Amino acid sequence: MTMRIDAVWDGIEAIVLDAVGTLIEPFPAVADVYAAAARRQGVELDRELVRNRFVQSFRDDEFEENLEALVTDEPTELSRWKRIVTSVLPNLPEPDRAFEELWDHFGRPDSWRCFADVGPALTALSATGMPIAIASNFDSRLRPVLAGLPALAALGPRLVISSEVGYRKPHPAFYQAVCDCLGQVPEALLMIGDDPENDVLGACRAGLRGVWLDRRGRGDRQDVLGVNHLAALVSLRGA
Ligand SMILES: [Mg+2]
Repeated sequence: MTMRIDAVWDGIEAIVLDAVGTLIEPFPAVADVYAAAARRQGVELDRELVRNRFVQSFRDDEFEENLEALVTDEPTELSRWKRIVTSVLPNLPEPDRAFEELWDHFGRPDSWRCFADVGPALTALSATGMPIAIASNFDSRLRPVLAGLPALAALGPRLVISSEVGYRKPHPAFYQAVCDCLGQVPEALLMIGDDPENDVLGACRAGLRGVWLDRRGRGDRQDVLGVNHLAALVSLRGA
């Protein structure tokens, strides 16, 4: 990595942000929501067990996905979430009911919240006049979710969603769709996200500049540029 973090805005004309883990997070937490769905069917599950199963199952699914072509659409995303729900909550009396409840839950804006630094950062970045897009591997449920969160709805964000594009991050075709959406060449785009592979290395391979939003301060990746919060990135712009 030759670029210094203080040069990260040089030549940048537009901003691209990941959604989940970067701008928004589930609230209440995923483990509590899944455990509540099981409880409604009389199944009591330990929260930590549910949490660990979810993390593992989401990671396994994504790992297998990355060995494939990263091709997707809405039915593919629906199947992915069915697999994940089934592996986190096996042996429920009514598995389809649990899936439908969880699918609906995470498609509603009141099931999500913005991270505290998002509102101020977006206000400052909007004031620069640079166009801002949101680029996500979530499915089309992201549209109503973002529309219902005032800090994001006010932005009128351009949305690039993998299930609509046909390719998931980190596929180059996904990033090409991001460039097309913003009408910019890849070199003019700064991609910011919490996933070093999908959001940063994938973006860089497609010719964009990528910055890792290391919200938990892990600091364990030497191969990517990182910041711990959005304000740090905004202040580098002098915005
Ligand atoms: Mg993310």
